[in-house]
Amino acid sequence: MADPIALARDLIRCPSVTPAEGGALALIETVLKGAGFEVHRVTFAEPGTDPIDNLYARIGSAAPHLMLAGHTDVVPPGDASRWTHPPFAAEVADGVLYGRGAVDMKGSIAAKLAAALDYLGSHGGKPNGSLSFLITGDEEGIAVNGTVKLLSWAAERGETFDHCILGEPTNPQKLGDMIKIGRRGSQNGTLVVTGTQGHVAYPELADNPVRNIAALMVAINAEPIDHGTAHFGASNLEFTSIDVGNKTVNLIPAEARARFNIRFNDTRTRQELRELIEERAAKAAGDRIRWHIEWEPSNADVFLTPPGPFVELVSSAIKEVTGLTPKLSTTGGTSDARFIKDYCPVIEFGLLSQQMHKIDEHVATADLVTLTAIYRQILERYFG
Ligand SMILES: [Zn+2]
Repeated sequence: MADPIALARDLIRCPSVTPAEGGALALIETVLKGAGFEVHRVTFAEPGTDPIDNLYARIGSAAPHLMLAGHTDVVPPGDASRWTHPPFAAEVADGVLYGRGAVDMKGSIAAKLAAALDYLGSHGGKPNGSLSFLITGDEEGIAVNGTVKLLSWAAERGETFDHCILGEPTNPQKLGDMIKIGRRGSQNGTLVVTGTQGHVAYPELADNPVRNIAALMVAINAEPIDHGTAHFGASNLEFTSIDVGNKTVNLIPAEARARFNIRFNDTRTRQELRELIEERAAKAAGDRIRWHIEWEPSNADVFLTPPGPFVELVSSAIKEVTGLTPKLSTTGGTSDARFIKDYCPVIEFGLLSQQMHKIDEHVATADLVTLTAIYRQILERYFG
């Protein structure tokens, strides 16, 4: 049987900090080819970005088609001297495996590989349907040459998917705590207020944008955006910076800017959300304050995979292995599931989330074994 701990260690030893492939996809290619998968390595690039290596592998041609998705790239280790165990050494001490990517998400990829190999080994080498791996090297970066392009590349080849499990770390405390069945959308914007520059001692001859931007910020945040839904918390707008850049003490500046981010649920479309914020600003500004909002383009839309047979299948597999009934959650930041949701229902389940991106990122080797058993159980039920 494939050993998820050995696979995770081999993957961690590939220094695949975005955009470097680091040998991680080559390793997965070897493992999957050995198990009979048809493997494609696809590089995407566009002007102004690093070319990125990606992998798509499939075995079987019948329905149903389950996609296991993930990323091999990792965030930089930071100051490596602050790590107790070197970030790419994959040392095991007292039942704990240390290394960058241990939970996010080489450990989960190792568990998926081990589960797939074990499943195929006990079913004559073929799934009762189709199983694929869609693995990118561009998730932790700007995510333009990764999953989003790999999915459209696959679609052009005629690939269709019925369901997907993305292996991001989802569990707050214990393996089995939480499945993510959706994620909020994200929208950045900058509120810009224009004034009239002047001497601070003669405010009647100026129009202070600092005073005015404060009033608009208060008005925008005066009421909640919504009150949440059955599956989502309330949408939230958070101002993250107020920028005037004025170094002169006796000068009223000409412009003030305030950056903000909105995490939003499925109560409104992105366009309706923008209109709501602009209405609030317009109402507070009247014809007294000159303002506008610069909305940034975003590819982070809200999504929800409503509870149903697929979510139930994953939940019951988790329960069988861990004894826990996972909470169905939509919390946290965005993930590549925002792209996958355009092709098939997607849920996320992986390791513990506490260690993501930290110094001394680590995973209990027992969790790798348990997660493998859970994925294995999911495959058994999905193709059963
Ligand atoms: Zn991740």
